[in-house]
Amino acid sequence: MSTIQQPSRAAKRSTKEWQQADAAHFLHPFTDFAALAKKGSRIITDANNIYLHDSDGNKILDAMSGLWCVNVGYGQKALVDAAARQMQELPFYNAFFQTATPPSIELAELLAEVTPPQFQHVFFTSSGSEGNDTIVRMVRRYWDVLGQPERQVIIGRHNGYHGSTMAGASLGGMSGMHAQGGLPIPNITHIEQPHWFELGGDQSREDFGLTAARWLEEKILAVGPERVAAFIGEPIQGAGGVIVPPTTYWPEIQRICDKYGILLVSDEVICGFGRTGEWFGCETVGSRPDLMTFAKGVTSGYIPLGGVMVGERIAKVLIEQGGEFNHGFTYSGHPVACAVALANIGLIRQLNLVSHVKHNVGPYLAQQFAELAEHPLVGETQTCGLMGAVQLVKDKAKRQMFDSALEVGMVCRGHCFGNGLIMRAVGDRMIIAPPLVITRPQVDEMMALIRRCLDLTLADVQ
Ligand code: PLP
Repeated sequence: MSTIQQPSRAAKRSTKEWQQADAAHFLHPFTDFAALAKKGSRIITDANNIYLHDSDGNKILDAMSGLWCVNVGYGQKALVDAAARQMQELPFYNAFFQTATPPSIELAELLAEVTPPQFQHVFFTSSGSEGNDTIVRMVRRYWDVLGQPERQVIIGRHNGYHGSTMAGASLGGMSGMHAQGGLPIPNITHIEQPHWFELGGDQSREDFGLTAARWLEEKILAVGPERVAAFIGEPIQGAGGVIVPPTTYWPEIQRICDKYGILLVSDEVICGFGRTGEWFGCETVGSRPDLMTFAKGVTSGYIPLGGVMVGERIAKVLIEQGGEFNHGFTYSGHPVACAVALANIGLIRQLNLVSHVKHNVGPYLAQQFAELAEHPLVGETQTCGLMGAVQLVKDKAKRQMFDSALEVGMVCRGHCFGNGLIMRAVGDRMIIAPPLVITRPQVDEMMALIRRCLDLTLADVQ
């Protein structure tokens, strides 16, 4: 693998000095500001392959790919060179007013090639949240152009995550986000998530998958089918805790969307670009979306870029009948971001990463996680490609959770940090999504760390 070594900046200031400056000026996302100021943030200074280094010189295995995004791993010179070349040639030009740049055109072409065949057009943004805002505008515009302006309602799911802008947070079903800032915005409603472990009761996984999908039909009928514009979901819920739905779920969702003619939106911000063992999550779960949101893995997070793949059903209407679409961002189709995306997708192909996930490390991780389910603290494990979840429970047999006040997930996350592993806690569900370049020996190394942290957590709660 072609990698770069970066000089560490850690030496410039001590960890304490970094933390003091950080607490004095930087309001971090999704953070209790006062708590962070007291504790001090962890300062990541450099990274290579699947490993991070902090300002104290610790080496950390990044089992979360940054924030689900560094698909090709850290230190890939091809992406750095692509950015540098493009910055010298043309650092910026916009895509407004009938202009384009070579990298944005080439990337649009390449995305049409690697996405499912119904996608021939793309609308660029700089993030997943902006992508989902674009979805809301575009879906409503589509129905408006077709003479059905009453089709305004978009259905999402509780505990789904679609970003942090007003529309993104509204489409998502995170109660903590809705509690701040008067969300959701009008005409967005939610159904329950397909989370068998928590909601499945006595039903088999497959039966529960059908039950959960039919909550969509119930909601469509409650709202009135003539008012429903679209349904949005992540193929595998990521930030909600890597909830892998039963195999029956998505085909039934597809059937229901088809029956009522409503648009299906697949939020591929996490699942896209190889994460699930196919190029896109919809291909893994068996849905045929009309629109797909993407971000993160399109550039492996090296530079911000997002967008919406627009299916021909919608593109045709917007192009032939829509007139001007009054929407866009300064950085829609940013040439440097597009150049990095071209290099990134090129590298995913060159390293055969999608096949590596599907046929090599994905099945290997699945096998390791199945064995991990025997651990006394673990109620269930789930994986899909290189996404995995470990549900921590008080009583395995009864599927009984811990008292949430104990914050067992946070205890476990603390042990992970202390032992050189980044794993995320969603309540008491520990989740991973390592870089797609991870090897089998590195999976072994990660599993040994996970087991050690589970043992330490068990000792704390016993
Ligand atoms: N959609 C999904 C499924 C996500 O996981 C995220 C971010 O984690 C977003 C949308 C929002 O993307 P961004 O943070 O780039 O705005």
